[in-house]
Amino acid sequence: MMEKLYDACDIQRVADQYLEIRERLETACAKAGRAPSEVTLIGVTKTVDPVLINAALDAGLSAIGENRVQEYLGKRQDLHLDGVERHLIGHLQTNKVKMIVGEVDMIQSVDSLRLATEIDRISAQKGLVTPVLVEVNIGEEESKDGIALAQSEELIRQMALLKHISVRGMMTIPPISDTEAKKRYYFSKMRDLFIDIRSKNIDNIFMHILSMGMSDDFELAVAEGSTMVRVGTAMFGKRNYSV
Ligand SMILES: *Cc1c(COP(=O)(O)O)cnc(C)c1O
Repeated sequence: MMEKLYDACDIQRVADQYLEIRERLETACAKAGRAPSEVTLIGVTKTVDPVLINAALDAGLSAIGENRVQEYLGKRQDLHLDGVERHLIGHLQTNKVKMIVGEVDMIQSVDSLRLATEIDRISAQKGLVTPVLVEVNIGEEESKDGIALAQSEELIRQMALLKHISVRGMMTIPPISDTEAKKRYYFSKMRDLFIDIRSKNIDNIFMHILSMGMSDDFELAVAEGSTMVRVGTAMFGKRNYSV
């Protein structure tokens, strides 16, 4: 395989971008009257070369999110992952569940009972309980993964019965919006759903994490109650899908 080479300049740039995002996140928390410790920053590392991922990890990044099972498994031995949280944030096919359970700390993209049941089954086989988030399609977009808002409580109630998964909260990717008002609308709608389901105190469901906000809108997401932001482009630069 051809290795793309990065120089000290590229490594410094990613470290700087990571630190800049941290600062912006702290400012957003302060504005919202929240402690910075309430919001976890995930570096989204899909398509990113391990050299650049390590630049952010060495600068202090403590959580990463990958979209594809094989890509993650193929590059993780090159990553400085000691003490780093690993999240699967991309769509997961049921036939890949056995490869990823036990290899990440959380699966954020659970949007059907079928997938939840398979994660539960494989986790039981491996003697594990896998922390998961329920992915909600808050914009009700046809092209998007995620459970519809109206069905999310029912899914969560069914997931509560599975002993080898542990629901820790919710994740969403809202529709692409051109105005701040529209972005806020979806983030606040998601927060309301999160709070509503949390208030039901369903047995075996721990509604602590609300994963929303990406490069273009993480500050707005924090203002609307996000507890976990997933930032790729702003940290690592534009993705190159051809490599
Ligand atoms: C790619 C991706 C992100 C990061 O998007 P950026 O706009 O590059 O910050 C966040 N969440 C998910 C689920 C993604 O697939």
